[in-house]
Amino acid sequence: MERGLLILVSGASGTGKGTVCKKILSDMPEIFYSISATTRQPRPGEVDGVEYFFITKEEFKTWIAEDKFLEYAEVYGNFYGTPLHKIEERLSRGENVLLEIDTQGALNVMKKVPDGIYIFLLPPSLEELKNRIKNRGTETPETLERRLNAAKAEIEIGKKYQYVVVNDTVDEAVKKIKAIISAELCKTSRNEKIFEDLIG
Ligand code: 5GP
Repeated sequence: MERGLLILVSGASGTGKGTVCKKILSDMPEIFYSISATTRQPRPGEVDGVEYFFITKEEFKTWIAEDKFLEYAEVYGNFYGTPLHKIEERLSRGENVLLEIDTQGALNVMKKVPDGIYIFLLPPSLEELKNRIKNRGTETPETLERRLNAAKAEIEIGKKYQYVVVNDTVDEAVKKIKAIISAELCKTSRNEKIFEDLIG
C-alpha cells in the first residue's frame, strides 16, 4: 500500500493558518490531524487532547528523552512538539496526515521527511497582517512591532517551502490547498499500483 501524504502547513502568526486548517479538516474528514503537545497554558475554550495535549515541562523533557517527537521547538517561550507514534501509524496505513507547525519545526521535518508536502500561508499584505494581529486586542505597540518583525523573519523562511498560498479569503486558500493535495495524490510516482493492476 502507498504511504499516506504528510502535509505540513505553516505561516506567520496572524496569517490565519488555524482557521484554514480547521476548514480543510471539516471538508476532508479523512485527513488525520496531528495534535501537538505543548507546555503552554490552555486558552479559554481549549480542551486537552483536542487543540493540543497540554503537558508539563517535565513531561515534555521525558518525551524528548524517550524520542517521542518527530520535531519540537520553543515558540514564544513555550515548547511545542509533534508526537511521532500516531503519525507513523497513520502514514503506514495509507492515511494522509496534516501538521500545522511553526517554521523552525517545519525545517526539521523537511530534513526527516523529504517527500512531505510543505505549504506556506502568506497574509495578503503586511498592513493586513498588522490589522489582524491588532484586532485580536492582545498586543501593546511594542509587542505588535516585535510580532511583525518576527513575522517578516518567518515569511523569509517561507521561500524554502514547495508551495505558497496567499490567504486573501479562507475559502480561496482552502480551495488552493485542496488542489495541491489532489495534484500530489495524482502523481504517477504515487500510483504505481494502478499501472501494475492494469498492465502487469
Ligand atoms: P499557539 O500557541 O498560538 O497555538 O501556537 C504558536 C505557534 O506554535 C504556531 O506558530 C504554531 O504553528 C506552532 N506550533 C503548534 N504546534 C507545534 C508543534 O508541534 N511543533 C512546532 N514546531 N510548532 C508548533
